[in-house]
Amino acid sequence: MSGNTPNILTTANGAPVADDNNSISAGSRGPLTFDNFRLMEKLAHFNRERIPERVVHARGSGAYGTFTLTKDLSDYTIANFLQGEGKETEVFVRFSTVGGGQDSSDYARDPRGFAVKFYTEEGNFDLVGNNTPVFFLRDPSKFPDFVHSQKKNPRTNTPDASAVFEYWANHPQSLHQSTILMSDRGIPASYRHMNGYGSHTLSFWNDQGERVWVKFHLKTDQGIKTLRGSETAGLPAYGAQEDLVNSIDAGDFPSWTVKIQIMTETEARTYRYNPFDLTKVWPHSDFPLIEIGKMELNRNVDNYFAETEQSAFTPSNLVPGVGASPDKMLQARLLAYPDAQRYRVGVNHQQLPVNAPKCPVHHYQRDGAMAGMVKCPVTGHAANQGSGANFFPNDRAAEGAPVPKPSVMEPPMPLEEDAWVGYHESRDEDNFTQAGELFRIMTEDQKNQLAENIAGGLSQASESAQVRMLEQYAAADVDYAARVKKAIEALKA
Ligand code: NDP
Repeated sequence: MSGNTPNILTTANGAPVADDNNSISAGSRGPLTFDNFRLMEKLAHFNRERIPERVVHARGSGAYGTFTLTKDLSDYTIANFLQGEGKETEVFVRFSTVGGGQDSSDYARDPRGFAVKFYTEEGNFDLVGNNTPVFFLRDPSKFPDFVHSQKKNPRTNTPDASAVFEYWANHPQSLHQSTILMSDRGIPASYRHMNGYGSHTLSFWNDQGERVWVKFHLKTDQGIKTLRGSETAGLPAYGAQEDLVNSIDAGDFPSWTVKIQIMTETEARTYRYNPFDLTKVWPHSDFPLIEIGKMELNRNVDNYFAETEQSAFTPSNLVPGVGASPDKMLQARLLAYPDAQRYRVGVNHQQLPVNAPKCPVHHYQRDGAMAGMVKCPVTGHAANQGSGANFFPNDRAAEGAPVPKPSVMEPPMPLEEDAWVGYHESRDEDNFTQAGELFRIMTEDQKNQLAENIAGGLSQASESAQVRMLEQYAAADVDYAARVKKAIEALKA
């Protein structure tokens, strides 16, 4: 609206609309006619308002903010956004629950997604993490089975605690993560009151070509706040979304202190745990947290669908100086996540404003659905790479045809010397020690909450699953098993 003149309602092709309350009909009682193309556009567009919902992490909330580096990391990495104290980088963060659909509750007992897109000057770096430092699996071949077992029953379309525990009973490597999930931390009071973890082991490399392994931790400055299951009953399903939007609108900007752990390649070779096993943490006493920065969220989205729903995160969005690691789960996500975004949003999803890098993008990829729908919204680069050369190598560098930059070459990743290609069974790779360590740092109240939360679901599982789960708890700590057993008996009484 300019001055007192209202904006004119138009169709999508920009033609002014004379009447938006009535359809064209033959007589006042109808029928409608084919020249209702404005009505048809409206209904056809409405039919297509949804894109495929994410199979996991469907329900989410997003916001923009700033990452400020407080410790120069040039000794470890050439990553542009990690050079020089005080360096600021814009971020977009999407929080989510994992298992439920878009219509589920923000207060499910579920891990929370904690995905951060750093819009660096050398491309977007996505830290696609969770609010837990570990995960249920160390091998990606189990991912679809695991997710199926935690979602709704295929016949009744209702939650199925029996299937949840049947899967875990058959899969002891989930114990560490399921202990976190069933603990008091299993239901964060809001997205502001939880930590984030990159979870996977990533790598940094420096200008000498030296690599170190690294884990990211984002510690909430608001303090950890959680809810008991009984406290969530009367809460609105959208409570965490509302909390985030309202606090940012009110200028109460949530922040997280960003820390890393670093392990050298030499340390990794002899460390007592496989440092690339996603079911394990690196204990702080072995690899202390190093504070490197602060992340603050300070701007809400203008349009939920365009920005939060179409935001597309993938661990393959890496930048020079930050690399992957042998972590098998990470390796599979390098394929699965961009594949999901290409299916869900489209092959040109990186052209959308929320996903577009804030630095020049020059390449030889062309076309596909919606190619060139906009110029790069940030840099103004020609849509679909304009009239530039569409093949490489070529003789057109002087005209702006892009060329590779050898100085950002990643050092080769080491393999174990005796590595063989094949199936490597990891079923018995110490699934219990760290679950036990977590149990033992819990207070009396936390231990009891853990046992009661487990008992609620486990009591619905088969006798056989209950026996195997109690064996797992006992392998972590005999007191853990004893408390769960007691809590199940209390339910039966
Ligand atoms: P520390 O005592 O040094 O650290 C314990 C960590 O556990 C803290 O980071 C704390 O987070 C976190 N924590 C406390 N209660 C819970 C809970 N119910 N669910 C999840 N995290 C919790 O011990 P270690 O480093 O030796 O690790 C011991 C155990 O702590 C691990 O087996 C693991 O289960 C858990 N843990 C370890 C982390 C790591 O990176 N080493 C990270 C997170 C958990 P906070 O500071 O926010 O209170």
